[in-house]
Amino acid sequence: MQGKKIFGRYEILELLGEGGMARVYRARDLHLGREVAVKVLLDSVARDPDLCERFRREARAAATLSHPNIVGVFDFLESPEGIFLIMELVRGEDLRTRLDRSGPLPIPEATRIATKILAALQHAHSHGLIHRDVSARNVLLDESGTVRVSDFGIARAVGDRTLTRTGEMLGSVQYISPEQARGDQAGAQADLYAVGVLLYEMLTGRLPFLAENPVQLALKHVNEEPVPPSHFRPGLPPLLEDGILQALRKDPEERFASAGDMAAFLEKAASGGHVDRTLTRPQAVPPSPAPPRGNREEPQGIRSTPPRRAGMLWWMVGIALLALLAGVLWSVLWPVERVEVPNVVGLSLAAAREQAARSGLELRIQDQRPSEEVPPETILEQRPAPGQKVARGSALYVIVCRGREMVTVPDLTGLTLSRAREEISRLGLVLEEVRESDPEQPPGVVIRQSPGAGGQVTRGTTILVVVSSGPGTKELPDLRGMPRAEAEKVLSDLGFSLVVGGTRPDASLPEDSILEQAPSAGTLLDAGTKVRVILSLGRQGLVAPELIGKSLREAREIAARQGLDLVVDGPAGPEDAVDSQDPAPGQPLAGAEIHVSSHQTAVVPRLQGSTLEQARERLEALGLVLGEVSRAPSADFAPGEIVEQSPAQGIEVPRGSAVDLLVADPAAPTPVVTPGDVQPETPTPSASWVP
Ligand code: ADP
Ligand code: MG
Repeated sequence: MQGKKIFGRYEILELLGEGGMARVYRARDLHLGREVAVKVLLDSVARDPDLCERFRREARAAATLSHPNIVGVFDFLESPEGIFLIMELVRGEDLRTRLDRSGPLPIPEATRIATKILAALQHAHSHGLIHRDVSARNVLLDESGTVRVSDFGIARAVGDRTLTRTGEMLGSVQYISPEQARGDQAGAQADLYAVGVLLYEMLTGRLPFLAENPVQLALKHVNEEPVPPSHFRPGLPPLLEDGILQALRKDPEERFASAGDMAAFLEKAASGGHVDRTLTRPQAVPPSPAPPRGNREEPQGIRSTPPRRAGMLWWMVGIALLALLAGVLWSVLWPVERVEVPNVVGLSLAAAREQAARSGLELRIQDQRPSEEVPPETILEQRPAPGQKVARGSALYVIVCRGREMVTVPDLTGLTLSRAREEISRLGLVLEEVRESDPEQPPGVVIRQSPGAGGQVTRGTTILVVVSSGPGTKELPDLRGMPRAEAEKVLSDLGFSLVVGGTRPDASLPEDSILEQAPSAGTLLDAGTKVRVILSLGRQGLVAPELIGKSLREAREIAARQGLDLVVDGPAGPEDAVDSQDPAPGQPLAGAEIHVSSHQTAVVPRLQGSTLEQARERLEALGLVLGEVSRAPSADFAPGEIVEQSPAQGIEVPRGSAVDLLVADPAAPTPVVTPGDVQPETPTPSASWVP
């Protein structure tokens, strides 16, 4: 493009910058011998006839404006090579570059720039022209610091498409009013909103809203309230802050009534003066689209130069020349080299710094923000956006991840598990419990924790808590025979308690000793379990139980139940019936013994056919004893079976009598049986002795 002539009149000299829909070149107007700025619509825009038509209309409308704070439009040209807007050349930089270079501005400078922008807007608004794209890139500052607003009305031509385009249009969306973001008709108040954003940015060095993509950003303008600028710029005059926030109201009606009102407010607010707020309330200003051409009235006195005295004029010319000279020198000595902004989002701070330096930019941390998703010191956002062209040495502002948010570990000891759980989840931590028996703490109470209270941990850290399971399970010992006091001590040491389930006289144990316990010894029990015991009443009230008629086995059990020792006088088998006892039933007991006796005789049982062992058992059960055992072969009985007995079955004999037996044994010699030999004590020979 360089060196190219447009319509044989404008010679392109150098690219100044590129925006979302056009490139801007410095060019020489060969007819008038002056330098101009030529804006060339990008091909993509120029191909859209609808867009072109609107662009044309707005450019012509803008060309009718003339104001010291508005970049003048000289001409509008179309050829098969493109669409060209010839503008006044502003030597200096745009506000974006200025802010990137210098960071936040001093309050007087910021308000000065804002009031100049507002003066330009007031002029345009009074001509029915809304800017709709007031942005830091569209505010140009010449070398003398004069503020020039460019692109009046032009943005509107593509405004409808702004949001549907991506990345490159983010710049414009940064200043978009909520009503524009919603797609509503935008009036003069939309421009005031943008000035509010600019002021916010000039004073704090950051935008009121930041987002990853234009759609999100636009939504924030619609839905989110800005953080008051004084948060980032302490010491901001409160009235000035009020003014900014008023300009940033979501409802256009709540903003200032006009650009002029806002300018007046800002001037007073910045100087700390009193402002009559009632004057600044807007009277509903209807959105005012550009009126059709020809209908526009030129207000008197705006285009004409105010009369000045000659001396004054010379002074001004002198100053202007000096400024021009300074500008030329400045641009010769420090030619502004423009570099492309690299993408540093997602890089570590160190890597981003390196990357910025390589691109000729200086990295500056604008803010820090916690984030769980990326490691600490990762770049979350940047400004300007990647791909933008900025002056070498400009600042690249970044928002850095502060790392995961740290949380102070609370003291959980003594809390119940559910309370601890609540507390932990409120802080975004995770709880893990471990049970441990503790006789001191009731079950479910936190005994210990790790990490301990007061420590700093990242969100999501697991806090281990040791929760009491109570005193835990223990084995129940055998309490029987213990005095009650001792049993109580043993139980309470183990975390159990004793309850008396009843009392019973017992001769063997002194009063208040443990006779029985439930559960029984050896059972595993949870802490706090009550152990029931039966206490002995001692001999107190103990009388001899009724044992007569019971078998000796039964009698022994009954006696044992009362702690009595059963003493059997004389021979008796377990199945023999008791026929006498001492003391007699119901009589008090003198000692721990009860004497019983059984019958003095026994009836010999039939033993034939049983084994020797079986025979011994039966005899003993009857109080008889095994006598002599002989062996002889037998045709009728199996080996080992008893063939004969003496005395015979059914004979009553004294207790302790012996019974002799003949056992079948094929190996034995056939005995010579003499009944008299075998049964010497048998009073009457048994019939069964017949061989
Ligand atoms: P944007 O959409 O960012 O406003 P523009 O196409 O309007 O982009 O302008 C591109 C760049 O050209 C701007 O950043 C600005 O610095 C520069 N520029 C625009 N108009 C002029 C002008 N009249 N004089 C000098 N520089 C200008
Ligand atoms: Mg522009």
